[in-house]
Amino acid sequence: MTYFPIIGLEIHVELKTNSKMFCGCKNDPFGAGKPNIYTCPVCLGMPGALPRTNRKAVEWTQLLGLALHCNLATQSKFDRKHYFYPDLPKGYQISQYDQPLCENGYIDTSVGRIGIRRVHLEEDTAKMQHILVHGTRTSCIDFNRSGVPLVEIVTEPDIRSPQQAREYAKKIQEIVRTLHISDADMEKGSMRLEANISLSTDGKTLPAYKVEVKNINSFRFLEKACTFELERHEKLLTQNAVPVQETRGWSESKNGTVSQRSKENAEDYRYFPEPDLPPMRFSDEDFEKIRAQLPELPEDAISRYILAGIPENIARTVAQNRSFAGVIDALLVSSHKNMVVSVAQAIVNKKVLVEGKSADVVVAEVTAFSKNDEISESNLQTAVHAVIEEQEKAVADFRSGKQQVLGFLVGMVIRKLGKKIDAKTVAEKLHSAIQA
Ligand SMILES: [Zn+2]
Repeated sequence: MTYFPIIGLEIHVELKTNSKMFCGCKNDPFGAGKPNIYTCPVCLGMPGALPRTNRKAVEWTQLLGLALHCNLATQSKFDRKHYFYPDLPKGYQISQYDQPLCENGYIDTSVGRIGIRRVHLEEDTAKMQHILVHGTRTSCIDFNRSGVPLVEIVTEPDIRSPQQAREYAKKIQEIVRTLHISDADMEKGSMRLEANISLSTDGKTLPAYKVEVKNINSFRFLEKACTFELERHEKLLTQNAVPVQETRGWSESKNGTVSQRSKENAEDYRYFPEPDLPPMRFSDEDFEKIRAQLPELPEDAISRYILAGIPENIARTVAQNRSFAGVIDALLVSSHKNMVVSVAQAIVNKKVLVEGKSADVVVAEVTAFSKNDEISESNLQTAVHAVIEEQEKAVADFRSGKQQVLGFLVGMVIRKLGKKIDAKTVAEKLHSAIQA
């Protein structure tokens, strides 16, 4: 029996607006020196406190929607999603249910297109911390994160392998960073991943179950968690058992996933429209203003570099690094345009440092560097011949079959050059010079 992986991803990204989603409190949960310093009645969930929508957060979500090729909704609203947990003092989270800000987008990966079902905006919860207070294990709540704008990006179940899941997630991170709307730091938690995983028997029909994996805080763990789950499901399915519909968490120490709670039935969050926030309406003019803010995205920059003659793998690295891209972009519109491929190769191989340097300086360094390369080639020949002359006995020993003498001769050549050079190159040169 052949099984086909069916994977969908939900990615949460905290927006780095100045203030929180529904109040004026500072949005800086990671920079706060102490817990509970950026709080007010709204983000503490006090009865009667009235939320107000952060316009910037809405615009940034729409900007992200455009970058992900989504349709922007002309009508959208916020809804209350009810559930109980200590990090959510209101007893509900303000989220979006049936009218998300953006829908029906896509991202292309190297092995196919992944549909994006929706991109919506909500508020983050407070953060629970389990620490020892006077020797007693205590759960504490930090409200600095409560009410931070949080975007959720949901794919269609289009992902077909753990590697593709990883590639997609990396692309999302690149895009939000290019848009400057989030740091998307997985270790800190400003970007969080959840995967829905199942195995299909024909690759088309969705299986009757799915397993959700949370608590994934690196791209590597995402790939590992998906691989672990797919293998676990296959084992169960081949024994005619169906994997339990549940939520699991990635455990780094166990190097696998562990069950957290079963999810036999869809949860009932009793969504209803948020009565304290007016519905949102947008005109074509509003959307044009957002579109005008859209910068060049990584994929577009990569295509542009490839067109300029830069090999694809180098073009990708350049596009991912702002300093590299800055130098290459400056070169492309300068009189040094013909240098672009050699400069791209040199900066990607870290042969020149580009941070804070102008394109002209980088070009001068790359030119000097290539001259150095030529000189060291002739220097190498001179050094090799000098050593052969000086070390007559060692050379004679080598000729008579004492292979181990070569190492000694290589060392002598390197000492003569007084520079770092690859020993294998020196050995080859010696070898051919001695045999000539
Ligand atoms: Zn507040």
